[in-house]
Amino acid sequence: MTNVESNTSSSLTMPGDATATCWSCGTMRAVHFCSACGKVQPPVPVDYFTFFALPRKLHVDAALLEREFYELSLKLHPDLCARADKREQEWSLEQSSLLNDAYRTLKDPIKRTEYLLRLEGVELEEQSKTATEKARATGEIKKQVVPPDLLEEVFELNMQLEELRMQKKLGEDDPALVEEIGKHKLELEKKYEALLEELKTYWAEWDQLPDDAAEENRRKVRDKMVDLLNRRSYIRNLVRDVNEAVEN
Ligand SMILES: [Zn+2]
Repeated sequence: MTNVESNTSSSLTMPGDATATCWSCGTMRAVHFCSACGKVQPPVPVDYFTFFALPRKLHVDAALLEREFYELSLKLHPDLCARADKREQEWSLEQSSLLNDAYRTLKDPIKRTEYLLRLEGVELEEQSKTATEKARATGEIKKQVVPPDLLEEVFELNMQLEELRMQKKLGEDDPALVEEIGKHKLELEKKYEALLEELKTYWAEWDQLPDDAAEENRRKVRDKMVDLLNRRSYIRNLVRDVNEAVEN
């Protein structure tokens, strides 16, 4: 992901780039297809925001994005019989697959946030991958840091889950305990849902940053989003643990 940054340099074809001409008719073209003759152009390495000619912001007009997606799908469709040129057919395939990836990523609020963070140099997957490999190497169970606001609840819940597993081993049944655990699960799910609203406030902070914002200010907002995504995956894993303990 790290070379995306350098790939978006001004030497490449960007929407509105005055130097870009169509391979077929020589007219000025849009990034995906020629505005004059409609022929699909060779894909240029751009990030998903640039692909849709969107600014690198987190609030995205979902209706507009969907409209653009369907419009581009038609224009880039590989099966159009007008695509007599073999190269154009290949470019259509590549552009269509890029379009689908870009759309899937940008329409989903979480995927969009993770993608932007990666463009910004935050390696979310790398972090967790390194942690997993390290834990595997040392034979330790991978430990996630408990979000501070969940400490108490997680402690209590883990005790109850331990008790439940024990009871199940002994073939005992404790409906009151299962109900208690169910209540915790509900609380966690509520918190999980609320995270999306919290995330939107950070989107607003990010989107309001001026283009020349100091790195320190950019990092502050990025850190808040990373922290939220970590809390989110923590809660998701915890709910999965609860489900496993209750259902097994
Ligand atoms: Zn053309």
